[in-house]
Amino acid sequence: MTTLVTSSLASWSGVEGRPLVIAGPCSAESEEQLMETARRLRGTRVDYFRAGIWKARTRPSNFEGIGDTALPWLVKTGRQFGMKTATEVATAQHVEIALHHGVDLLWIGARTTVNPFSVQEIAEALRGVNAPVLVKNPTSPDMALWMGALERINRAGVRRLGVIHRGFSVAGVVRYRNAPMWELAIEFRRMHPDIPIITDPSHITGRRDMILDVAQHAMDLGLDGLMIEAHPNPDQAWSDAAQQVTPERLAEILDLIKVRRETSADAGFLAALATLRGRIDHLDHEILDLLAKRMRVVEEIADCKRENNVATLQVSRWSAMLEDRLDRAQTLGLAAEYAQAIYEIIHRESVRRQSEIMNAEPALEATEDHS
Ligand code: PEP
Ligand code: MN
Repeated sequence: MTTLVTSSLASWSGVEGRPLVIAGPCSAESEEQLMETARRLRGTRVDYFRAGIWKARTRPSNFEGIGDTALPWLVKTGRQFGMKTATEVATAQHVEIALHHGVDLLWIGARTTVNPFSVQEIAEALRGVNAPVLVKNPTSPDMALWMGALERINRAGVRRLGVIHRGFSVAGVVRYRNAPMWELAIEFRRMHPDIPIITDPSHITGRRDMILDVAQHAMDLGLDGLMIEAHPNPDQAWSDAAQQVTPERLAEILDLIKVRRETSADAGFLAALATLRGRIDHLDHEILDLLAKRMRVVEEIADCKRENNVATLQVSRWSAMLEDRLDRAQTLGLAAEYAQAIYEIIHRESVRRQSEIMNAEPALEATEDHS
């Protein structure tokens, strides 16, 4: 694993003990629209005012952004209302012109992170630049691609570095526009505990009514900030209309969110937590002991099937077993998807182990004759 050399979020943003907030419209549409958004955000804690200048759109008929003309509007709005500014860059030229106009923070969009050539080109343009850079996760759930993009930017000397978690395109997910796959954000945190993670509930949900819940979940996990799209008249927005909120609703969301502390120095809390964690450790060892015992039985089943030349999988048995385990899980108050996911893994490993045993070379019989 490559070590990234970065400076802390607090050192470049001044934000500590609360989430960093990046907010503003998906796209800059006019100077008035930016000014109105910012005016209505007054008094709300927004650290960076965002607006998309160049939009990487799925279809060529979609609005592709105002382009360079909108950069002075963004910077002017930020200065007038006392907010730093942020925009997405997808090429070296975007980097140069955005910085030239005085944009404070740049982010790399999900559709750009997937392409190492583009990321490298952007990285070269960022050499010697002091502005913070945030890398959105790639559209596909590919950690290596995300890490690779960060490494390229970091190797170009950018120290003020962070990531934006905006969800992943995965087949079959209907609840969200982009599946959050929180486990990837957690894995990212485990691998790089010092890199700030900003969650983007707007692009995860694609729906304004779910933004608060996803934002709260990010806070529950102790992530570092939020990027939320806000527009003076969301339904009329030229891009991402369904997921944008009014500036007033954004203020409300930020008020409603409960920010969790990373830990507490309270002695009672620490003692209670240590006891509970001890119980969890003990239970986890029991779970592993049981899984190992279960596997020994699986091996006996495999010997039995092998002797009788019977297939590893009997689908009727698997269906009946799953049904029984899900019923029991429900009685015990466990979520059905959780129990199902566990049993799918247990069963897959059991079939794999049986196959391994059934196809093993027969043990060599003792050939020496001692008679
Ligand atoms: C955006 O932030 O407006 C955007 C296009 O996001 P993403 O790159 O996450 O799709
Ligand atoms: Mn958008």
